[in-house]
Amino acid sequence: YQVKYGGRGHHRMYCETDPGASRKFILEKDLGLALEREQLFLHYQPQIDSGTLELKGVEALIRWNHPEFGLVSPAEFIPIAEESGHIGAIGGWVLSEACTQAKRWSDEGSPIKVGVNLSPQQLHRPDIADQVRNVLEQTGLPPELLDLEITESAALSRPELVLVRLQELKRLGLTISVDDFGTGYSSLSYLETFPVDKIKIARQFTSKLENRQVNRMIVSHIVDLARTLEMSVIAEGVESENQAAILRAIECVEMQGYLFGHPVPPEEISRMLPLQPEL
Ligand code: C2E
Ligand code: MG
Ligand code: MG
Ligand code: MG
Repeated sequence: YQVKYGGRGHHRMYCETDPGASRKFILEKDLGLALEREQLFLHYQPQIDSGTLELKGVEALIRWNHPEFGLVSPAEFIPIAEESGHIGAIGGWVLSEACTQAKRWSDEGSPIKVGVNLSPQQLHRPDIADQVRNVLEQTGLPPELLDLEITESAALSRPELVLVRLQELKRLGLTISVDDFGTGYSSLSYLETFPVDKIKIARQFTSKLENRQVNRMIVSHIVDLARTLEMSVIAEGVESENQAAILRAIECVEMQGYLFGHPVPPEEISRMLPLQPEL
C-alpha cells in the first residue's frame, strides 16, 4: 500500500512482508502522539563516587511504552525522532521532566545532579540556551545540578556553531559531559577548545577492561587526560566487581552501570538517598 509520511511530501511504498519498514513507519507516526498520550517516561540510573560509593548523580534515560509494541528502546526511537522532527518537543519534555524531578530531590535534602542527553539536533538549535534557561527558571533547579550530555559526533559535525552554543549553555552555570567518549573518530583537540567538564568513558572500553592489558592502559590514559585537563571522568557500563576494582585502581572518579543500579523509576532512586531527619 502507498502511504504519505514525514511531512515532506514523499510517497513511498510499504510492503506488508517487510515488517522492518512498517514498524519504523508506525513508530514515526505514533511518536507524534506519544507525548500527549503520556506514553513517555524517564528512568534514572545511579552515578556513584568510585571512592566513597556515594550516589553523586543520576542519568535520565527516556522510555516509551508503545500501545502495540510495548517498551521501545531509545536506541531505536530517538534516531526516528531526530529524522522526523519530533525530537524538539520530546527533548524539551525530557529537560523539563528531569529538572522537575532533580529539584524535588534537592528540596528533599538530596542535591544530586541529573544528566540529560542532548541530541545533535537540539545542540544545533540557535535557541537551545534560552530553552534550558527557561526550564531552569520554571523548575527552580540550581543550574549546577544539571549536566548536559553531548556526543563527540554532534559537537564535531558543526564545531564553530556548537562552540558558541556550549559557551552560552555554560554561562547558565550548568556542566557539560562528553557521552560515549572514544567511540567516534575524532581528534582530541576539541577537548581543549570546548567548555567540557566531564568525560564519560564509553561502555565498549569498560566491558573490555578485563580482557587485555592494553585496554586497561587505554582507559588509564583517558583518566589521566581528564585529570590533566581538569575534567571529571566517569566510566559507563560497569557490570562487574572486577571492572570496578580496576577503575578504582586507575582512579576513575565516578562509575555508572548495572553493578550499581539499572535505570529505574524516580521513586526507587528516592529510596537510595540518605534519610532526612524528620522536622
Ligand atoms: P547513553 O546516553 O550512552 O546511555 C547509556 C545506555 O547504556 C542506556 O541505554 C543504559 O540503560 C545502558 N546501560 C547502563 N549501564 C549499563 C551496563 O552496565 N551494561 C549495559 N549493557 N548497558 C548499560 P538506554 O537507556 O537504552 O539508552 C540508549 C541511548 O539512547 C542512550 O545512550 C542515549 O544515547 C539515548 N537516549 C536515552 N534517553 C535519551 C533522551 O532523553 N534524549 C536523547 N536525545 N537521547 C536519549
Ligand atoms: Mg548518556
Ligand atoms: Mg553513553
Ligand atoms: Mg549514546
